[in-house]
Amino acid sequence: MLIPPKINPSVSLAATAAMQINSDRLRHRLQQLAQIGRLPNGGVSRLAFSAADQDARAQTQQWLQMAGMTVRIDPAGNLIGRYPGQDETLGAIATGSHLDTVSCGGSYDGALGVIAGVEIAQTLHDAHAHFHHPFEVIVFADEEGSMIGSKAMSGSVESRMATLNRSNSNPLAKALTAIGGNWKAIEQAKRQSEELHAFVELHVEQGPVLESVRAAIGIVEGIVGQRRYQITIEGQANHAGTTPMHLRQDALVAAARVILAVQALANDEHKQTVATVGEIHTIPNTVNVIPGTIKLTVDLRDLCDRHLNQLQSQLNQNLQTIGQETRTKIALQPTLQTPAVLADAEIQAAIEQSCQMLNTSYHYLPSRAGHDAQSLARLTRIGMIFVPSRGGISHSAQEYTAPQHCLQGVQVLWQTLWQCDRQLI
Ligand SMILES: [Zn+2]
Repeated sequence: MLIPPKINPSVSLAATAAMQINSDRLRHRLQQLAQIGRLPNGGVSRLAFSAADQDARAQTQQWLQMAGMTVRIDPAGNLIGRYPGQDETLGAIATGSHLDTVSCGGSYDGALGVIAGVEIAQTLHDAHAHFHHPFEVIVFADEEGSMIGSKAMSGSVESRMATLNRSNSNPLAKALTAIGGNWKAIEQAKRQSEELHAFVELHVEQGPVLESVRAAIGIVEGIVGQRRYQITIEGQANHAGTTPMHLRQDALVAAARVILAVQALANDEHKQTVATVGEIHTIPNTVNVIPGTIKLTVDLRDLCDRHLNQLQSQLNQNLQTIGQETRTKIALQPTLQTPAVLADAEIQAAIEQSCQMLNTSYHYLPSRAGHDAQSLARLTRIGMIFVPSRGGISHSAQEYTAPQHCLQGVQVLWQTLWQCDRQLI
């Protein structure tokens, strides 16, 4: 027999929405978490599966349990807290993020989204209140490395991950065991779409846009698609003294034009596309030899996959022209293609309404970094809320988001989840 959760019917949903997030506890918990893996320079090092990562997970598990959640660890190492809903047959409304960091990261990337979930659960629990839907807080395993947790949950684990080595020298299977996962059963971490009604993640922006437009909240339109290419330019290496200028096939001169052509791809009126040449190798790379071969990389990102296709065609055309005019041979080799993921329109609207209700400034923007939410989009509708990163800096000891912005982010998340629950969207 199904035992209904013990729910206090006297707490109405309207009262739930009016409940306040405890700003002191939120700040204190963020500080407490930032002490785990603290570096002398003020940064945080919690590589996935490391002792510090395990300590942060243990602390968070304790907080989730204090908030009245039942906690489990799935085979992919995801830590999942669940708080009963008024109707346990409904899919869960979920939030969460990650606790692992890069080798010298900051105190907010990932941690804020996890603590936000903890605080919302604690707020519900303190008031003996429940959503219609079950409520879940998910701490995804290894976001900064393989994104194994969210990928496994959405059923998209690649077999090559089995052989990946982590920077703490543990094979992934062994590393997973350390955090309570089980590589052999990883497929069982996959969840069904019906189990999750919506997933909304709060995260620091990791870019300078919100600060530049002076908005407290970013409403994420989606996570950009990404294309990477290797370009090889073949010219003719020759003597830098004896070869007249008009008889040269200088691959580096061609590369200079290619770099400007890549930059020009992103000069669209919406300023949404970004295009980067980040790596360049010159052969033979010698002071008195005309460069014969150049290899360089291109990274293109935009929220529209069709636009990325058009940019690729345009780049190809530009390369042909540059090749003809510089008498070099230029080849474009795709090396990575990640499709764009759009945030659910109704969740975006719910975030906007929440901002209006809380009288908080907001701005729509794409996410140009990858997040667990993009994997979850294979399973359920997703939304993301950004708060400003000072100076646009992240993955650094200098990463900082003001306490007021953290609080506003959690309040907007809280109102958004409440609206998702009430509207049964
Ligand atoms: Zn992150």
